[in-house]
Amino acid sequence: MTLQFDTLLRGLRLKVTPQRLAILEILAGESTYLTPEEVWNRMRSKSAKAGLPTVYRNLEDLSECGVLIKIVHPDRRLYYYFCPNGHHHHHFICISCRKVEDLTFCGLDIIDKEVRKSLKGAVVSHLMQVYGHCKECLAC
Ligand SMILES: [Zn+2]
Ligand SMILES: [Zn+2]
Ligand SMILES: [Zn+2]
Repeated sequence: MTLQFDTLLRGLRLKVTPQRLAILEILAGESTYLTPEEVWNRMRSKSAKAGLPTVYRNLEDLSECGVLIKIVHPDRRLYYYFCPNGHHHHHFICISCRKVEDLTFCGLDIIDKEVRKSLKGAVVSHLMQVYGHCKECLAC
């Protein structure tokens, strides 16, 4: 991964700390989503030391700034995922193997029209995560 995480953090006016860099490196190196405990476990094998509460707080800060994607899973646990693609898109989340795939279909046009028509309001932003089983998991 050639991403410059320190530049990324500075660009968002976030303090660059060894913990934040380690968290980003760990999540960017995975094609799956991880729990805070799993991130913390992987950090212990790196030089950046942090307690679990610090990891929780940093994951939360990074997801609030949009650097990480927070996954509110149907199993009611929280997971975090790093997607390098900056443009607006959504994610298809496999609940069997934890793979995350970019979904180019957005659907905002339809929702915006519906909000204007039936609620007489206007959409500013939206969040959508789609859960299911990926192609490989369906073939098993
Ligand atoms: Zn899968
Ligand atoms: Zn993505
Ligand atoms: Zn969208």
